[in-house]
Amino acid sequence: MALIVQKFGGTSVGSVERIEQVAAKVKKFRDNGDDIVVVVSAMSGETNRLIDLAKQISEQPVARELDVMVSTGEQVTIALLAMALIKIGVPAVSYTGNQVRILTDSAFTKARILQIDAQNIHKELKAGRVVVVAGFQGVDEAGNITTLGRGGSDTTGVALAAALKADECQIYTDVDGVYTTDPRVVAKAQRLDKITFEEMLEMASLGSKVLQIRAVEFAGKYSVPLRVLHSFQEGPGTLITLDEEESMEQPIISGIAFNRDEAKLTIRGVPDTPGVAFKILGPISAANVEVDMIVQNVAHDNTTDFTFTVHRNDYQNALQVLEGIARDMGAREVIGDTDIAKVSIVGVGMRSHAGVASRMFEALAKENINIQMISTSEIKVSVVIEEKYLELAVRALHTAFELDAPAGKVE
Ligand code: ADP
Ligand code: ASP
Ligand code: MG
Repeated sequence: MALIVQKFGGTSVGSVERIEQVAAKVKKFRDNGDDIVVVVSAMSGETNRLIDLAKQISEQPVARELDVMVSTGEQVTIALLAMALIKIGVPAVSYTGNQVRILTDSAFTKARILQIDAQNIHKELKAGRVVVVAGFQGVDEAGNITTLGRGGSDTTGVALAAALKADECQIYTDVDGVYTTDPRVVAKAQRLDKITFEEMLEMASLGSKVLQIRAVEFAGKYSVPLRVLHSFQEGPGTLITLDEEESMEQPIISGIAFNRDEAKLTIRGVPDTPGVAFKILGPISAANVEVDMIVQNVAHDNTTDFTFTVHRNDYQNALQVLEGIARDMGAREVIGDTDIAKVSIVGVGMRSHAGVASRMFEALAKENINIQMISTSEIKVSVVIEEKYLELAVRALHTAFELDAPAGKVE
């Protein structure tokens, strides 16, 4: 008998029919003798609908109130799923984040889980009930409702699995596993049987939204066996593993991630003197804007250009701060660009292979795609390109690194 935490995403609970299908699936596991804790998201589209409502009142809604509202999406689905389970004879009970006591910090809209009280859940399981927990939400020390950031139900699932010492955390979604890249963009993408935590962490942080990054962090930290599976199709899914096998077939690149969430800012003609980077990025950081990629160009005539990227949500804010800095420093001009995208290749195989970056640049050059910025780490290479070439770039790289599914084997 195992204890399994199963998380079902928005499309998997997107209608009453789907919720009944989920209930039937949970029943099967339970009939097998397993103890089940289910974590659910809001019905698909619901979180966006609620955020849109708030934005009709204010472009920047008060974060505390936004969390009070968006957390209702999950409250609906836990109740519906518990009802559906009870209807088919499975004793079940729903719990909000607050009722479990998923304690978080007070960073509304992006709170971090600090502690989970596993007692209530263990008691319910002992009494033979399936426990249905609301994903994405928690409560802070003062009793305020908090949410964990978009895609946060994944993190609820993994954190619960860690707290309950579950045998496995299963993330059920609308694809049958983690693919070499988003299968919606590349039809020839292939499902991976396994991927290491390290690679999955990079993929998630570089834009693959199949798992929220904090869920992967948690799973790695607490060694939670984690698997991504299709909600309604049988199959092995993808196991996120600790071990990094050095096999002959190990591909150099495991996956390609991309994101359209960034914007680029350039300050031109700043004096090339010590402390420039700090003078520019100090105030940006003080404005609570996180910087991702940074490039400082070679100086001519003792001045230089400095370029960096930020999240698109922070673009206006960063632009304003930068314009102030430019005036103070007597810089030539500030240029902003929101039509950019970041494409990254990820793989632990890169450690033992040279020439991976140049192979990437060659593939992009062949498609005439200009690279605006580059950043590398031990297991990834990222480039910033014009957004309109994003899909072309991802497909070209997928082919260049021999990730395409063989003809006739498209899943
Ligand atoms: P859920 O609502 O179940 O949490 P998400 O939409 O958050 O589902 O995540 C699943 C989606 O992630 C897939 O439909 C797919 O389009 C996208 N995705 C992006 N990158 C990948 C990848 N490498 N492998 C699989 N899916 C990916
Ligand atoms: N409902 C939340 C969202 O849409 C959390 C989740 O689905 O994981 O982001
Ligand atoms: Mg998700």
